[in-house]
Amino acid sequence: AAFDEMGLADDLLRGIYAYGYEKPSAIQQRAVMPIIQGRDVIAQAQSGTGKSSMIALTACQMVNTASREVQVLILSPTRELASQTEKAILAVGGFLNIQAHACIGGKSVGEDSRKLEYGVHVVSGTPGRVADMIVNRKKLRTRAIKMLVLDESDEMLSRGFKDQIYEIYRCLPPELQVDWLTNKMREYNFTVSAMHGDMPQKERE
Ligand code: AMP
Repeated sequence: AAFDEMGLADDLLRGIYAYGYEKPSAIQQRAVMPIIQGRDVIAQAQSGTGKSSMIALTACQMVNTASREVQVLILSPTRELASQTEKAILAVGGFLNIQAHACIGGKSVGEDSRKLEYGVHVVSGTPGRVADMIVNRKKLRTRAIKMLVLDESDEMLSRGFKDQIYEIYRCLPPELQVDWLTNKMREYNFTVSAMHGDMPQKERE
């Protein structure tokens, strides 16, 4: 399917074309529609095939801009990837006026707090800083989050972020959509069994 056959918002399509994308990559062709239909998706493909861009555009589609609460949370294993995804969201979501913020280590916590208080729709971050903003500092409100995206989930789990991801997950609403993106099949199998097998009980706020 072409981008304009996917049921994406008109202003999002404008953003996608303005950013220079003409047609969806293979993984985007297969995964965009299930994701925006609210399904839990596990998608595996090599890096550089459009996975992160797909996260950006599906995140924009899922946001209701009438609310200023965080609705989509994206976790990435590195600061660079989290910032890149934030920038892609701001780019394709420009016509929708999507507010996105990168919550990453090495940046000022005060700046994170100010941005979150002002109101953002999408947070793209690394597990450590996001867990800190939710659990310790209580600056990132989770009650309106409807979608959690784990980018390079195989990489995140092999880097030892599992405890932080679980800590975050425990704070998210029960009716949560979770989408997994991974590069490698071996870790992908590990990911699936780890998350579906021993995910902790979720607690309501
Ligand atoms: P990603 O795997 O999402 O990091 O994308 C790899 C590169 O391909 C980035 O430079 C993207 O901007 C670009 N890209 C992603 N999706 C598309 C698309 N549908 N059309 C053209 N370029 C794309």
